[in-house]
Amino acid sequence: ESIQPERSFKSSDLSVRLAAPHQLQPKPDVSALTFGKYFTDHMLKVFYYESLGGWQAPEITPFENLVLHPAAKVLHYAVELFEGMKAYRGIDGKIRIFRPELNMERMNTSAIRSGLPTFNGNELIKCLNRLISIDQEWVPHSEASSLYIRPTLIGIDPTLGVAASDSALLYVILCPVGTYFKNSSKEVGVSLLADPRYTRAWPGGCGDRKMGSNYAPTIHVQREAAEKGLQQVLWLYGYDNQLTEVGTMNIFMFYLNENGERELVTPPLNGLILPGVTRNSILALGRELKQFKVSERKITMDEVHRLILENRLLELFGAGTACIVSPISFIDYAGQGLHIPTLEQPEPIYKMFLKCLSDIQYGYITDHPWALPI
Ligand code: PMP
Repeated sequence: ESIQPERSFKSSDLSVRLAAPHQLQPKPDVSALTFGKYFTDHMLKVFYYESLGGWQAPEITPFENLVLHPAAKVLHYAVELFEGMKAYRGIDGKIRIFRPELNMERMNTSAIRSGLPTFNGNELIKCLNRLISIDQEWVPHSEASSLYIRPTLIGIDPTLGVAASDSALLYVILCPVGTYFKNSSKEVGVSLLADPRYTRAWPGGCGDRKMGSNYAPTIHVQREAAEKGLQQVLWLYGYDNQLTEVGTMNIFMFYLNENGERELVTPPLNGLILPGVTRNSILALGRELKQFKVSERKITMDEVHRLILENRLLELFGAGTACIVSPISFIDYAGQGLHIPTLEQPEPIYKMFLKCLSDIQYGYITDHPWALPI
């Protein structure tokens, strides 16, 4: 199976039904932006019906509830996938989306794994641009905030068979969100629970696809971490306790290698890891800089432990759309506390990456190919 961009809806068929003045919601104060709690006034919907020739015309409508048949496949077999990306209001007032074509590609690969229909990513980006420009006042006028974009694709066939869904709904909702670091002077590292009893992905599974079914089973483990006073879960895999991801972020390690060189390393895309857009961007920036070695390879807990003992571990950080870059300061590994010196480095590279990325996102670097103006 492959992506079939020719069997797609078209942005030229997009229709718009605007919310009536009384339906418009007040915009929340940017300082009070809880992630994913406030939604903009409009949404995008595209239905797919096999019996009607596939994708229907895309429509922008007021933000509203969905009506689903109780047997809809999404509600029983988690026939669902989603994406997460952001639009930023730049210092020049222009709104830019960060590398949306990579999210479109990932969304289509998730669709194939879920038996859901694929589409032309450029057409969805064009529809999205229209949606964001209609709700543009919701893109925060603040460099501590952005507009989170949540494209979602669900199987809505009203039949209980475990089979491909002949009908689907692709929709997009938008939320203004704050950044992880509200104030860099108060920056603290995250603490992690690394419990070898749990894993989130395995070879032949679908941990490398952004399907809702990957996330529900993580909630219980995340709660266990919180009960221990830890903020995130460090996901391990295999008898050698490989580090795979941290919470909903990819993981990076910066260390002094056997030759005494500085090296940035992240686990490879071997099926156990979501191919993060932030991960891809950090690897590209790191390679372009040529200031340290950059590699994609397995990292194990034994190695982390040894590097700490030998004072060779410099930084560990998570990378993802939600908080961009998140320094790690502590790991509870099967009851043993490991202190990670990320925040003690005089010029940490995680901060350098955070600055590079936000300079692109907020338009300090103009016309960068990774920042698509709407
Ligand atoms: N890993 C997982 C499990 C995730 O859910 C995410 C968030 N999409 C990421 C990594 C980071 O990916 P991205 O940089 O594309 O947000």
